[in-house]
Amino acid sequence: MTFSALVLDIEGTVCPISFVKETLFPYFLQKVDSLPRSEDTHIQSLLQQFKTDDVVDQIRSLVSRDVKDPILKELQGLVWQHGYASGEITAPVYADAVDFIEKTDKPVYIYSSGSVKAQKLLFQYVKSQQETIDLRPRIQNYYDINTSGIKTDAESYVRIAKDIGLPAGDILFLSDNSLELKAAQHAGFQVRLAIRPGNLPVDDQSRYSIITDFSVL
Ligand SMILES: [Mg+2]
Repeated sequence: MTFSALVLDIEGTVCPISFVKETLFPYFLQKVDSLPRSEDTHIQSLLQQFKTDDVVDQIRSLVSRDVKDPILKELQGLVWQHGYASGEITAPVYADAVDFIEKTDKPVYIYSSGSVKAQKLLFQYVKSQQETIDLRPRIQNYYDINTSGIKTDAESYVRIAKDIGLPAGDILFLSDNSLELKAAQHAGFQVRLAIRPGNLPVDDQSRYSIITDFSVL
């Protein structure tokens, strides 16, 4: 298989699918009570936008109902930023993926439903053995729902190929989600299904060539 560029999904592909659910979201909830006392003026101005006396209660309610509130999303991004910067959070990118991203001579792009801002934070604070490394210099560009559309729509991949500036057939997309692979394939991309510890079983797994370790690339 020859390709000239790669587009990588994040959760379930380069890091465990549980990272967001079991690390990032609990971290945010753990910090909610202390937010009204935060010295970050950006956090304070976001809290004021909720327009309620009990902002902690309001936030907990939005989170428990899984409301996609833009102020909440921005607030979560800031809280995670503090968490990464303080060393309380590091991104558990798989060692083989870190190694590959560091060494490949092919340009690497990221496409995730998490915001571009959240993606950059994740790659800025990657856990690698005993240290935290910044993989951002190795990543050409980042795509999310706002820049490119939803991940199960073939049109999104057409836009991404156009932005990369290569024919779709020269780009390899890796993801743990077969619906995303199907959309990318539809747009002409080469695709491989990532199977990683903790990933959910994929129904139509046999339709795809599988990757369990980036060292084979
Ligand atoms: Mg995924």
